[in-house]
Amino acid sequence: MENQWFEPPEGAAQASATGSAPSEEAQSAPLRLASLEEGLRVALDLSGTDLVLCDPQSWRFLDCNRSAHERLGYSREEFLALDPASLQADPQHDERWVQERMEQMRQQPRGSFPTRHRGRDGRLRDVDLHYQMVTFQGRPLVVIAQRDSTEKERARRESERLGFMLNEAERISHLGSWELIHATGELLWSEETYRIFGTTPEETRPSYENFLGLVHPDDRDALEATFRQSVLNGSAYRMRHRLLLPDGQEKIVLERGETRYDEKGQPLTTIGTVHDITHQHVIERQLEEAAYLDPLTGLPNKAATLRRLHGLMQTGAYNCSIAVIGIDLDDFQSINDSFGPEVGNQVLTAVGQRLRNHLQSSDWVARLGSDEFVVVRHCPSGTIGEAIDLARQVHAALDDLPLIGTGVAMRPTSCVGVATFPEHGTDPESLLQCTNTALMEAKHSGKHQLRAYSTAMSTLLRERLELEVQLAHAVDREQLRLVYQPQVDRQGRPVGAEALLRWRSQGGGEIPPDRFIPLAEQTGLILPIGSWVLEEALQQVRLWELRRMDPPRLAINISALQLEQEEPSLGSQLAAALSRHHVSAGAFELEITETALLRNPKLAIEQLEKLAGLGFSLAIDDFGTGYSSLSMLHALPINKLKIDRCFLQNIDRDNANRAIVRATVSMAQSLGLLTLAEGVETEGQFQSLLELGCDQFQGYLFGRPQPTDSFEQALAALAGGQEARLLTS
Ligand code: C2E
Ligand code: MG
Ligand code: MG
Repeated sequence: MENQWFEPPEGAAQASATGSAPSEEAQSAPLRLASLEEGLRVALDLSGTDLVLCDPQSWRFLDCNRSAHERLGYSREEFLALDPASLQADPQHDERWVQERMEQMRQQPRGSFPTRHRGRDGRLRDVDLHYQMVTFQGRPLVVIAQRDSTEKERARRESERLGFMLNEAERISHLGSWELIHATGELLWSEETYRIFGTTPEETRPSYENFLGLVHPDDRDALEATFRQSVLNGSAYRMRHRLLLPDGQEKIVLERGETRYDEKGQPLTTIGTVHDITHQHVIERQLEEAAYLDPLTGLPNKAATLRRLHGLMQTGAYNCSIAVIGIDLDDFQSINDSFGPEVGNQVLTAVGQRLRNHLQSSDWVARLGSDEFVVVRHCPSGTIGEAIDLARQVHAALDDLPLIGTGVAMRPTSCVGVATFPEHGTDPESLLQCTNTALMEAKHSGKHQLRAYSTAMSTLLRERLELEVQLAHAVDREQLRLVYQPQVDRQGRPVGAEALLRWRSQGGGEIPPDRFIPLAEQTGLILPIGSWVLEEALQQVRLWELRRMDPPRLAINISALQLEQEEPSLGSQLAAALSRHHVSAGAFELEITETALLRNPKLAIEQLEKLAGLGFSLAIDDFGTGYSSLSMLHALPINKLKIDRCFLQNIDRDNANRAIVRATVSMAQSLGLLTLAEGVETEGQFQSLLELGCDQFQGYLFGRPQPTDSFEQALAALAGGQEARLLTS
């Protein structure tokens, strides 16, 4: 018992441990501790602290309290027999470490260190160890008090692990966090927040002022206002802004924050995040650029133009004008078809460069698609006159386009349409639409044209579109028919007739060919319509032949597209139709306008030769309205020139028209061609044309275009009239 300072006598311990009922005698005895020593022992056991006495010489345990051995699962005897070093469980606490600690205890009479013990069952326990050297009854002793810190350590390690994970997560996602404590103004930044701000805890003390100093000066006021507003009204805020760091680096961050309040509504803390989205922003910018850029010319595209117009309209809504010039190259499709898409691309690039270099640097130049470009100019006090001036500059810049060398030098012309804001359109889409309408109008008028938008144009365009839709069904709905106009010789005898197309539209109205034929040509509808005309004309001649009427040669109008069509070619189509209807090519004349011949002379000559080879007679229609060269006429296998009726005006007087007709007739005679004058309305015109040597005549004087029945009667009357004329002359 000599060494037993802490433990109660074995019997007392067992009694309290087994909980057996105390004897009556004990119960009735006055409650009194046997001695101070005993009281101390009980107190030490209850303290929850493990107490151990150690000999500083041998480092053997001398005594311990109950919790010291029970906590590790040993009996007192077992515990006291242990070597203190064998309790060490931390792998880092090796023999040397143990020796050092023992040395420390010898050197410093009082101290502490954390360590870890292994219990009998192998479980580890974290321990905070405190020691003090004492001398008891002249003998040196080490009193060791240790507290189990396993739970505390686990919590500490867990919080360290969570802290590490959070830091890593913040680092990986470039998302920093911060907290502002309103009462003290203290601001806390996470590691990633420091990194985003390009600083360290050593360099910068986190404070609201220091933070504002890092915000881009242009964004500072807005951010401050947003933050203050959020703290005032309790709503979370979210704002994208720039940082301008001391090294000049600019970053884009997305900042969010939310404030907590006490029960009186006073702000406690604002907790927030700062997300570095610079990289994301760069990618967004690149994607945006790709979405708004035309890759071929490097110019902005249509989407960018709409955005630009929107911006201009917003900023300059008062007292400002915007001129929009639409540009479309003439015959770009044939450049592409004839020279290939690469040359087409070269032309488009050259046009883009030309426009960019020859206009003001503040002008917006964009490619809307295909061969369409647009120029936008912001005219602070603009007028339509200024816009038209700009359109002329555009035309001039392109007239001077460098030649694209491809063996065949080419310099495409262009049509230009003009519209202005706010006069013509007050939103970007409708303004571009007006420019496009003006451009289409310019294109309808021919090559190298310029038109400014007017509301009448839109009406016209709408009507034209409606007509186009109706025309597409004209053949199916049997709305087409042919009328016939006689052609006579110098004696007034019928020598031929021209088949002319008529269209009675759905509403019942007769649409003149001058309106619907050009539309059919622009839309390509002329191909099915032209085929219908051929079938109808051939069938009619067959009917006349069956009735033994001896019909005059029938002239059929052929459009440029029909002539240029490849599969099936006009020649093969006609050959098949001739045999189907049992008629011969000699019964027909094909009229091709002079302008159709000029579109693609080489192809036209080839086709005309095939048609002539099949036995068709060929006439050039509306002669004099194009500018065909005489050398070309010489090369063509044609039989007749039809002099356009515009040359018959005042021909009975001595004027320029008379001279033109005279020259045409003599040229035709020298080439061995017949001449037919179109649109003869008066006897005076007829006499003049006879004098000038014209061979044949067509016009209201001899008969209007009319349906078969009346045409047949007119023909008979003409034959009779000619007899009468002979009799009276
Ligand atoms: P075009 O081939 O030059 O036809 C002659 C036009 O002159 C016809 O107009 C005819 O009605 C008109 N005309 C004849 N004599 C006189 C006259 O004495 N005075 C006046 N003022 N006009 C006269 P229409 O029928 O209106 O046809 C206009 C044009 O439409 C034709 O001109 C032709 O280019 C085209 N066209 C008509 N039918 C067809 C067709 O079946 N196919 C193609 N591709 N074009 C056609
Ligand atoms: Mg004709
Ligand atoms: Mg004509």
